[in-house]
Amino acid sequence: AAMRESRVRRTKTVCTYCGVGCSFDVWTKDRHILKVEPEQGPTNGISTCVKGKFAWDFVNSQDRLTKPLIREGDAFREASWDEALGLVARRLSEIKAQDGPDALAFISSSKCTNEESYLMQKLARAVVGTNNIDNCSRYCQAPATVGLFRTVGYGGDSGSMTDIAKADLVLIVGSNTAESHPVLATRVKRAHKLHGQKLIVADIREHEMARRADVFLRPRPGTDLVWLSAISRYLLDQGLAKTAFLDRWVNGLEAYRASLEPFTLEAAERYCGLAAETLKKVAHMIADAPDVCILWAMGVTQHSMGSDTSTAISNLLLITGNYMRPGTGAYPLRGHNNVQGASDHGAMPNNLPGYQHVDDPEVRARFEAGWGVKLPTTKGLDNHEMVDAIQDGRLKALYIFGEEMSLVDANTNYVQDAFAKLEFFVVQDIFFSETCRFADVVLPAAPSLEKEGTFTSTERRIQRLYQVFDPLPGSRPDWRIIRDVANHLGANWSYEHPSEIMDEVASLTPLFAGVSYGRLEGYNSLQWPVAADGGDQPLLYTEKFAFPDGKARLFPLSWTEPVDQPDEEYDLHLNNGRLLEHFHEGNLTYRVEGIRRNTPDVFVEVSPELAQERGVQSGTRVELISRYGHVRLRALVTDRVHGKQLYMPMNSTESPVNRLIGSHTDAVTNTPAYKEAAVRMRVLPEL
Ligand code: SF4
Repeated sequence: AAMRESRVRRTKTVCTYCGVGCSFDVWTKDRHILKVEPEQGPTNGISTCVKGKFAWDFVNSQDRLTKPLIREGDAFREASWDEALGLVARRLSEIKAQDGPDALAFISSSKCTNEESYLMQKLARAVVGTNNIDNCSRYCQAPATVGLFRTVGYGGDSGSMTDIAKADLVLIVGSNTAESHPVLATRVKRAHKLHGQKLIVADIREHEMARRADVFLRPRPGTDLVWLSAISRYLLDQGLAKTAFLDRWVNGLEAYRASLEPFTLEAAERYCGLAAETLKKVAHMIADAPDVCILWAMGVTQHSMGSDTSTAISNLLLITGNYMRPGTGAYPLRGHNNVQGASDHGAMPNNLPGYQHVDDPEVRARFEAGWGVKLPTTKGLDNHEMVDAIQDGRLKALYIFGEEMSLVDANTNYVQDAFAKLEFFVVQDIFFSETCRFADVVLPAAPSLEKEGTFTSTERRIQRLYQVFDPLPGSRPDWRIIRDVANHLGANWSYEHPSEIMDEVASLTPLFAGVSYGRLEGYNSLQWPVAADGGDQPLLYTEKFAFPDGKARLFPLSWTEPVDQPDEEYDLHLNNGRLLEHFHEGNLTYRVEGIRRNTPDVFVEVSPELAQERGVQSGTRVELISRYGHVRLRALVTDRVHGKQLYMPMNSTESPVNRLIGSHTDAVTNTPAYKEAAVRMRVLPEL
């Protein structure tokens, strides 16, 4: 046994960081990672970025939780699993008996596996009896999903990542792709540099992709819907829309066209600050390119008009006939490794797995028969509503796993204040996160390298991860913990391996009918929808769109100004996003020595003109103050930002940007409008 343990092993896994879904072999000896070797990943081939290659040391960090913790006053004490699980079950039962099932809520993790999200929503619905279940796609991609549901029917990328290279023109809107989705960006860079692909980038910040672009549009913050719709109107007015495609495949042209009335190029020039001539040029580039795809991310979605702007993107693709062929279509770039899968598997307040609505009696009947219970019938609370419901006393208990909600939700101070009011709070994580500070019970979980399961990447690709290490002694995979909590609450779940969970998903969910671990062996993967015979769909729309009549729908839109605007007191606009080296609040990447050494903390980017006006240099200590909170950090003077716009990486536990963000949200999805923040800047004396 000793010899076997010390043997060098090679195990396939899928990256735990971004939604690109790179897969690779991890070479290990005992608990040491010798190297990460990408070989034959369907998405990444032989590439990874710095995180996939080097950011794994956190699994062996001294900080890993290995014992359940139970709150005693202001402190925590270690407890056995039996005691902790017993306490969780007892308190959840008591609160349910006293205040009803809707006094409890559950938040799943888009870092964890599909099987774990499925079990968490099943725990909420089938065991506790509430639809109060959500996941962090609420914070990022829910608006993109709405935009696609409205227009083409499925909430997923139209094609594969490799298809993007086949486009004649790529338009990137509100995505810092080179840092947020590095391996995907490499494909675009290569196609642009070597194969003559045209690249248009629209962003308020001049990041790497913007510098490479043939045309860089720098609209006023929060106005993307206006210029996108103005281009659509111009193309329709000039007879440049693809009429044959519209006639054959698209409903709703008349009402859509009427809604475009205010969106002239002159209006776009006025609102967006983009020259009408430039927009005309962009319109012609789009009309002339045989195949166009549009990539977008948080710069679009995290706005009070995030859903509508995502819809405007899909509208533009429809009128230019850019769906149904490789190299065309919509590519909302999912953030976390499994943000797509968490929603796919029903961790949403309105949908059972496979986007089947909770208020559809036929759907409920199928799940009720499968699970042997009666299910709640009305939509539950999303995670934004949960915070308000805690604040006003309706929600008493919360169970969250793999999610640093107290830092990544907007308006951090308000969220933390709510957590302090919970009667009972269970947090399940691999580290003692900020969120754990508010917990009553902390359950030690295992990271991706210590479990089996599947992730679904941004291109709807379902891939298996294999267990590289045993869970650190004392910690357990999330699916096992959720199973055990359910059983302590009186369920009788007998899952011994995640493959059994996926078999159950497939039996209840037409979207995944043919998904099985057998079909996902090794580097095999499936892109949903997956038919019962295992046939999948790399290109999402081939013979029809996902509506009953097979036709897509143009969706009429209007526009309103962003909510949190600079004024005299808060005179600067604050934008935020990712750093290449870090991931989100940094609970994983700051625990990787090499990364922490090179990128120890965040900074705020200040334009040269503003820096001169305020007497700020790179390295100057400043305080940013918003209507909601303040943070202190150092300035970095760069022409990536301009005028009175600031930019701050979101990757910090010390100076979290979300202390500065308010509670205003996208009107349709409640996604926080993280990108709409007004602040003022104060220069601080040197320490
Ligand atoms: Fe991981 Fe994304 Fe980097 Fe690929 S691009 S290695 S999925 S972080």
